[in-house]
Amino acid sequence: MHTDWFAIQQLAPGVWALQDPIGRVVPDYDVGVVNLYLVDGHDRAALIDSGMGLGDVMAACRTLTSKPLLTLCSHSHWDHVGGAHLFTERLIHPIEAPRLTEAYDVEGIGTIRRAPPTGALNEGDVLDLGGRTLTIWHTPGHSPGHTSFLDSQTGYLFCGDTCYAGTLWMQTDDANLDHWRTSLQRLAASGATALCGGHEEPRQQPALARRLLTALDDALAGRSTSAPFPFDPGARKHTFGDFSLLLRDA
Ligand SMILES: [Zn+2]
Ligand SMILES: [Zn+2]
Repeated sequence: MHTDWFAIQQLAPGVWALQDPIGRVVPDYDVGVVNLYLVDGHDRAALIDSGMGLGDVMAACRTLTSKPLLTLCSHSHWDHVGGAHLFTERLIHPIEAPRLTEAYDVEGIGTIRRAPPTGALNEGDVLDLGGRTLTIWHTPGHSPGHTSFLDSQTGYLFCGDTCYAGTLWMQTDDANLDHWRTSLQRLAASGATALCGGHEEPRQQPALARRLLTALDDALAGRSTSAPFPFDPGARKHTFGDFSLLLRDA
């Protein structure tokens, strides 16, 4: 595994973004980086998502904290769980737990190792890290067991692939646009101080959730500019300023 692979930036006391350069290895995905977030409490630290598994994410975390570490999976897509096997404690929503139990290969990347969950993330659960908590929100839409995490100290909502300013993958078999819309409404009304998404610039204004909702409605109503998406011939890319939506070609 690579060392010095992640670009690390501190967002707040005890909160860092570790950026995994997915655009360097699979540029056709039209995504630049995967964001992992390390949240450090007095007693233990949580790594929200573990990246592609190409960089040594455990070593990167150990430059930031010496506390016991667990990893929380926003969802089961390979670019978010590739490093999960490095952790002894791994939590994910029960709906997606079976997907971590077998290894599989990803073209251009290699093997994503098995990392069977050691526990579950359910709506309303509160994880105490010591002096700060993460509250679990089930936010389906991008995938059925997608989870977000609200930090009591900063008010940041770590929202995975539900909301970020980049190319959003809404065209996959995992996506449910009705559920996604409901989750975006929840994010928009959350009162979070920032939305920290799973890709691209790590900290966004909460108003982004509302803008995505409007854009999704516009795209589905034919009020958008779109182009083919070469990586997935069944999808079109609808572009709206600082983000784009990939949607099934109707
Ligand atoms: Zn995903
Ligand atoms: Zn993703």
